[in-house]
Amino acid sequence: MPYDIIVCLKQVPHPDYLGKITLDRATGTIVRAGIPCVVNPGDRNAVEEALRIRERYAGKITAITMGPPEARKAMEDVLALETDTAVHLCDYAFAGADTLATARALASGIRRLGHFDLILCGDTTIDSGTGQVAVQLAELLDLPCVTNVESIAFEDGQSLIVTRHWERGHVKVRMKLPGVLAVTERINEPRLPTILGIMGVAQKEIATWGAALLGVDTAQVGLCGSPTRFLQIGEFHAKRHGEVLKGPPEAMVTEAVNRLKRMELL
Ligand SMILES: Cc1cc2nc3c(=O)[nH]c(=O)nc-3n(C[C@H](O)[C@H](O)[C@H](O)COP(=O)(O)OP(=O)(O)OC[C@H]3O[C@@H](n4cnc5c(N)ncnc54)[C@H](O)[C@@H]3O)c2cc1C
Repeated sequence: MPYDIIVCLKQVPHPDYLGKITLDRATGTIVRAGIPCVVNPGDRNAVEEALRIRERYAGKITAITMGPPEARKAMEDVLALETDTAVHLCDYAFAGADTLATARALASGIRRLGHFDLILCGDTTIDSGTGQVAVQLAELLDLPCVTNVESIAFEDGQSLIVTRHWERGHVKVRMKLPGVLAVTERINEPRLPTILGIMGVAQKEIATWGAALLGVDTAQVGLCGSPTRFLQIGEFHAKRHGEVLKGPPEAMVTEAVNRLKRMELL
């Protein structure tokens, strides 16, 4: 049986530029101008998993993102991987959203999409990495959710068996469909787009939906709808003090241990 899959993906600063993120104190929102962005790495694994499910069972893959106008590029990137359609939730009313406000906007976009069997997300993003959105989205859509997913097996058209990473190993979980899965980067190795895939993007439509079209209450999304606020963003600089001990190894070890004891680290 074919499965209709929705993949949620976020455009994030390129990993080499994460330290360049600053906060606009006036608006309390993130300054991304001039920072190259990419599709969140974990979301590429979610797209790859959707492509593998479609290869086995057929069905349709819709990619969805909430983000500023430049996030359209992320949609083009996943259409180049030959997902079927893409939806870009873009409106100034969505700006400055915390995770709950992000999940609310995504939930309203997904409700407008209508029928689906499975929502795939990454576990976390590389910029803020709260790992909250997939779970909040499931709650808002009143759906089951499993996180840290490392393998997915379709039991029948109604349920899945997923392997979930757990600090002491793995657990197998049965989840009824429709539902939300947050996958880890260990679930698969994402493919690269083909030339044909890249050329095919121009023929595919990226729908751009705003707050009015979705009928969302703007007090529930964006900065207005965010119960958490940024106060400060700062880079953590570990102050390391290095010193080379000289002398016979036993004496150096003794000296090192004594120092650690004095620093109450032993
Ligand atoms: C440095 C920094 C720190 C932040 N700290 C917080 C915080 O502590 N609390 C808070 O509420 N907000 C915080 N935010 C804001 C937060 O980044 C946004 O709300 C963001 O849209 C979602 O949070 P996340 O990146 O942590 O997502 P996660 O919950 O880490 O993302 C999990 C998955 O959800 C999906 N997803 C996430 N965002 C989107 C999107 N915009 N469109 C489509 N799919 C998406 C993706 O599949 C992703 O892999 C922070 C932002 C930054 C840059």
